[in-house]
Amino acid sequence: MNQKKSLRNCPICQEENGEIIHTQNFVLPEGHPLSNGYDIICCDRCGFVYADTTVSQKDYDVFYAKLSKYEDKKTATGGGESPYDAARIQKTAECIAEFLPDKSIRILDIGCANGGLLGYLKKLGYNNLCGLDPSPACVENTKQLYGIEAYAGSIFTPPQDLGDFDLVILSHVLEHIQDLKFSVKLIEQLIKVGGYLYVEVPNASGYVDHVFAPFQDFNTEHINHFYHPHLSNLLIQFGLTNKLIGEKVFDVSPGMSYPAIYSFWQKQESNSSELVIAQDKMLKQRILLYIESSKKIMTDIDIKLQSVLEDAADVIVWGTGQLAMKLLVETSLAKANIVAFVDGNPINQGSVISGITVLSPHQIQLREMRQPIIVTSILSQEAIYNAIQKMKLPNRVILLR
Ligand SMILES: [Zn+2]
Repeated sequence: MNQKKSLRNCPICQEENGEIIHTQNFVLPEGHPLSNGYDIICCDRCGFVYADTTVSQKDYDVFYAKLSKYEDKKTATGGGESPYDAARIQKTAECIAEFLPDKSIRILDIGCANGGLLGYLKKLGYNNLCGLDPSPACVENTKQLYGIEAYAGSIFTPPQDLGDFDLVILSHVLEHIQDLKFSVKLIEQLIKVGGYLYVEVPNASGYVDHVFAPFQDFNTEHINHFYHPHLSNLLIQFGLTNKLIGEKVFDVSPGMSYPAIYSFWQKQESNSSELVIAQDKMLKQRILLYIESSKKIMTDIDIKLQSVLEDAADVIVWGTGQLAMKLLVETSLAKANIVAFVDGNPINQGSVISGITVLSPHQIQLREMRQPIIVTSILSQEAIYNAIQKMKLPNRVILLR
């Protein structure tokens, strides 16, 4: 047992004591506002599992407004542009339509990204839709792609006079939020009495059944790890009553899937329920299994990297996402002579990691760089491999799995 007084009190029950169950480190691009590591702790009181990060909500707001990976329509999630995103978003829209069939209800999607979910709801006949997202580029995309009213702002800085809503959607938002209780307090004020909240978050109790990239869920962005009892502990504090819960698994790339939980909550006339925080003991056990499984995969990857680096003096690293950030500190890649980083997402190009600039794929070709390419993404490794083939690059290509 490794107890500590947390830097960030439990975001659900405010308890300050917890058990460290893992320590996660990253290498981040220079000037990146998020933290380069944190402990994953389990709350002594309620059993919630979260990142004990000192990064403030304000820093996260800056990050999502300025560095949003979600605004690139080719690689982002949320816009519904990839077939996987489209299928996921369509299912969510259909689930909402089944629960709330009245097409005239006023709906707000908080963290709407490029408006994919709102676009599907529009297709299903809903005509009173509104989006909110911290990234101005995402807001522009929502307006232009779907003709839907949208505003730039986070839940902490919504536009004035937004009014209230019959349904507020929080799909894959709460796992990103530092100040959970304050955010739910603000969100609750946007819901009409008798109106609903739809929440969808990754299913932390299911991480272990879907391990493709090691420690994928312990990243710079996902800092809260929920299962139903923890969402319930959070939302009942604000007078929200549960009406429906469910679980789903969706595909994210070829052969890879991801687990999520969702639930509908109704705002009551008055918040008279007495606060009783229930203790959950299951999530910690499930997360411990996930950590064990991730460690095994990380070890396998490191063995592979060691053998590659033995006979390659210089290498190119293609992929600067969450896995690359971990490999650069936790495997032999930390000691490799990296001549260039490459990333297909324009938002990452030009940033500097460990003193080395991130190039576009085109720049590698122009500069005729011939060093072996290590593909440091598992989720996108097929897409990256196809891109390399299409560009007819002669380099040796190393895939991690
Ligand atoms: Zn707690």
